[in-house]
Amino acid sequence: VSKLSTLAALAFILTALAIEVYASPVKPPQSAQAPALSGGPGTTRAVGSPADPSSQPPLATEAELWARFLSEYRREDYRAAADTLTHLAEISKGSGVPSFNLACVLCRLGEPAKAADALREALELGFVDFPRATRELAPGGELSCLTGTDVAFAIAKGAQELQQAVLDARLKRLRALAKGEPQSQIRDDDRRMVILSGHSPRALDDARVELERAEALWKAHIAPGLPMPAQPVPPAPDPWVIVWLPKADVFALWARREVGPGAATLGGLYRPHTHELVARDLGPTLRHEFWHALHHRFMSRAGQDHPLWLQEGLCALVEDTTWPASVAGTDPAPTLDELAASARFENNWRTNMARRMLDRGTLPKLSALIELSSDRFMDSGSLGRYAVSRSLMLYLHQTGKLQPFLQELVTAWPSEPTGLRALARATGQPDGVNPPNLAGLDRDFRAWLRKQPEAPEAGQPGTTSARLPFDVDERGGEGLTVLDMDAASMLKLGVAPGEVLVAVDARPVRDAHELAAALAGKKAGDRVELTLRKSRAQRTVKTTLIAERH
Ligand SMILES: [Zn+2]
Repeated sequence: VSKLSTLAALAFILTALAIEVYASPVKPPQSAQAPALSGGPGTTRAVGSPADPSSQPPLATEAELWARFLSEYRREDYRAAADTLTHLAEISKGSGVPSFNLACVLCRLGEPAKAADALREALELGFVDFPRATRELAPGGELSCLTGTDVAFAIAKGAQELQQAVLDARLKRLRALAKGEPQSQIRDDDRRMVILSGHSPRALDDARVELERAEALWKAHIAPGLPMPAQPVPPAPDPWVIVWLPKADVFALWARREVGPGAATLGGLYRPHTHELVARDLGPTLRHEFWHALHHRFMSRAGQDHPLWLQEGLCALVEDTTWPASVAGTDPAPTLDELAASARFENNWRTNMARRMLDRGTLPKLSALIELSSDRFMDSGSLGRYAVSRSLMLYLHQTGKLQPFLQELVTAWPSEPTGLRALARATGQPDGVNPPNLAGLDRDFRAWLRKQPEAPEAGQPGTTSARLPFDVDERGGEGLTVLDMDAASMLKLGVAPGEVLVAVDARPVRDAHELAAALAGKKAGDRVELTLRKSRAQRTVKTTLIAERH
């Protein structure tokens, strides 16, 4: 117990942490973390397949050891698994995950004293998944050999304090990564979330609004399918989520360090085991990654690790939405939750991609997609798998089957971890056979996909016909920034280089895709109202669209 109170020492250890390779505590190989690629194939955003850090050369041995541990664990060779974890704990410098797993395995071997030591070590190294630890410490859990012991008591008692120390240490580490660039901070105690931002205060406000809207969409459309389990008794607080929004140059440095060669294609990611979200843009990527944070909060409380195809398809859903226009003069004005309930998820460039796969005959059968391991899902060509997963979620949502599917999955957990049977049940496919036959769903999904209109897509000629009379660039990360122009053009157009375009006709635009969507259906000569921002100031200006260059 005394060890747990050495918070100062703990904070010190955490600041020295190297970037970890996270595997899931004990059972599930699925949630071995996968950096999420959220970038679209826009003109200014490179695309490719996300790199898996566990396959980077210096970490290869660690990845092999994780694979070995999982196979030993599955065949119940706990002695060998304990040896592998001890080795992993030595080389993984600072991640508490191997020690946490070691404690679980030692319990299975009937060695509670050693298990208690391993659990203490995990906590000292910054293991913060207290809901998980608390659940495993309950009777029947992986750590039940420690139920009622001093270490279990300390976890229940010290969780809040420890989490605060861990949060402070992580914020300090991220600030250090920003290399002296000031980072402003908003702490949200209700959501147990801290936003750290290198952008202007106004952009930070916008990001906060974006997060609130994304949360409202989750509450309205997803949460009913994923009912949040109550806090365990004694309560184990949800880990703090850190949302880091660095400027483009700092993001590039960070991404190179995180994923090496895959950095250029990375739009952002959410790290499940440190609960850190990092995003390059303040629109679709931020929403996508934030949904991962919300989804992981559910999975952590429920003790579930949903398959990657589901995680990515679900979180990609929020990238493109249309909100109902709030009607002026309505009394009382609709709340954010009410507006979110009637917001719609839209086709986007991913739907276009899935449709092209269908046209070319390369669209995989749904059962083949669902049965892929996490590694295979994130392997090269993952953009196509993201495209199909998101399109399937959109199809389920539009046909009213998304929430029933999620409910089936959650209720049956862990007996059907791929989601195949839950999907069959929710969509009325014959599930008496093993494995369930999705042929009927494949047919309906393809028929639906074939009927989907092409979504406006930045950099895809033909999907829009009009454009702005000046160029914007999203690489700065803060939004669509007006590019340099001569003085005469500035006078004529009434816009200035460096201003950030935040809305067209009051519809928010955060990146090139959202701009394309806002201009869809308009033609050259149409007048639109632009909302522009420069540091704290915001103004509107009218402009005339010109013809798209083809
Ligand atoms: Zn993702």
